[in-house]
Amino acid sequence: MTAGETQIRISEIFGPTIQGEGVLMGLPTVFVRTGGCDYRCSWCDTLHAVASEYRDHWLPMSIDAIWREVTRLSGSRPLTVSLSGGNPAIQSLGGLIERGHRDGYRFALETQGSLAKDWFADLDVLVLSPKPPSSGMQTDWDAFDACLRLAGNGPRITLKIVVFDDDDYAYARTAAARYTDLPVYLQPGNHTPPPPDCDTAKVDVEGIMDRMLWLIDRVTADGWFEVHVLPQLHVLLWGNRRGV
Ligand code: SF4
Repeated sequence: MTAGETQIRISEIFGPTIQGEGVLMGLPTVFVRTGGCDYRCSWCDTLHAVASEYRDHWLPMSIDAIWREVTRLSGSRPLTVSLSGGNPAIQSLGGLIERGHRDGYRFALETQGSLAKDWFADLDVLVLSPKPPSSGMQTDWDAFDACLRLAGNGPRITLKIVVFDDDDYAYARTAAARYTDLPVYLQPGNHTPPPPDCDTAKVDVEGIMDRMLWLIDRVTADGWFEVHVLPQLHVLLWGNRRGV
């Protein structure tokens, strides 16, 4: 490592698999999951990239090292790299995006919108996922607006909101009314946090499907016809396992 070289805390890099949620659902992708998050959502399903007890598992990696792994996994065939976390906005990812773009790769990033970075403008897709009341978190809308401001006209931007109950649904309606020019994706919440090894997590598929049907009823009854309602496809296929 040379002095001053950017180091990014990595929880895991895996794929290719498919993007399981939101606007890119079904698209083949390699995930780069960074470690660390400024939130502690009550239902977080990526605790291994959030909680301090996993901190020792997060590897500081240089941009070159990350890029070697992404190109190895993808066979050097350009695809969309999904930058996820934790909150990937904690890290300095501008150099990684620049490196990948040189090779023809695209970059999608998902964040809750609590930290704005100027390199958001270099993304191809920005998924802003503000957290509803059931998360136990409070949205800082000024910080959220700053994310939009810094992203500018660079990436394609969408909103993705997890919904568990009536309060979450009302929050989603309010957020959608605030950003009328952004496509909105709703997804029923997944109540089952992963156990420490994250490999044997059982998912309450029936509960997810019940919430999905309830959500469809709500949006159709309200005449909310611009919204997309989607489940987390990867959770239905693989549960809360890591690395898929
Ligand atoms: Fe987990 Fe995302 Fe909430 Fe962070 S913002 S605690 S990664 S659900």
